[in-house]
Amino acid sequence: MKDWVKAKVIGKHQWAEGLYSLQFDAPIADFTAGQYIKVGLDIEGERVGRPYSLVNPPQQRPLEIYFNEIPEGPLTPPLSALNPGDEVWLTGTASGIFTLETVQPAETLWMLATGTGLGVYLSILRTPAPWERFKRVILVHGVRVSTDLAYAETLNELASQHGDRFTYLPAISRETHSGTLHGRITDLLNDGQLEDRADATITPETSHVMLCGNSAMIKEAKGILEARGLTRHRRQEPGHYTTEGYH
Ligand SMILES: Cc1cc2nc3c(=O)[nH]c(=O)nc-3n(C[C@H](O)[C@H](O)[C@H](O)COP(=O)(O)OP(=O)(O)OC[C@H]3O[C@@H](n4cnc5c(N)ncnc54)[C@H](O)[C@@H]3O)c2cc1C
Repeated sequence: MKDWVKAKVIGKHQWAEGLYSLQFDAPIADFTAGQYIKVGLDIEGERVGRPYSLVNPPQQRPLEIYFNEIPEGPLTPPLSALNPGDEVWLTGTASGIFTLETVQPAETLWMLATGTGLGVYLSILRTPAPWERFKRVILVHGVRVSTDLAYAETLNELASQHGDRFTYLPAISRETHSGTLHGRITDLLNDGQLEDRADATITPETSHVMLCGNSAMIKEAKGILEARGLTRHRRQEPGHYTTEGYH
């Protein structure tokens, strides 16, 4: 039995077609930045729940998720139709180990996201941990089109708080825009463009890499990182990269 608690939708933002954030008021237990909750709706007499990373940092309310609608998916079409005042179910305890808790300090923290994988990093980046434990944080957000680049205000706040310790690199695969990288994250990693633009090199000695979003990106990126000597981080066996696959 999951520890479902009732939540009220108290905010909704549509960033682009099929791309949303929802904010909830609910009594969930303390969580660590990087963790996820399950969001559930009762559909045709059955509770359909899916995991979503929390975007808000642990010390901040409301709870927030960032997601895209999958037209053929069972949960996201009714989820994106919700409005303030509506009720949903949330698990009362967050789960997951995609956090900085056991990660060793390094010079540079790389955060690589595709699509809605950005959200989890916005929670982590608004806690003290990354700024206490890394000299630089480089956040790479891969999207298909520029309208899918969300959370500009939060990113601007992070940039003004952390100055040149924080680098945000949007990468757009299907359009060319000045000031952004053009292509898929893994291609930009392979041909060195990502590191050139960041003015940093990914090595086992200097870097920890977090990968979040599309599992195909994660699989390909793991191959590239392992070829450079980086190993998967485990609680008992510290390494250089951690992953959270959404789909
Ligand atoms: C630990 C964890 C955390 C997650 N956090 C988030 C999050 O913060 N934001 C978020 O948007 N999603 C997140 N997901 C994915 C989410 O749980 C759902 O799978 C997704 O929202 C689709 O739900 P659905 O019921 O509509 O369709 P599902 O039945 O879950 O999926 C239908 C199909 O769509 C694919 N799919 C799922 N998600 C996506 C996507 N984002 N883009 C393209 N195809 C997709 C699935 O692989 C499947 O083939 C997370 C998944 C995991 C395992």
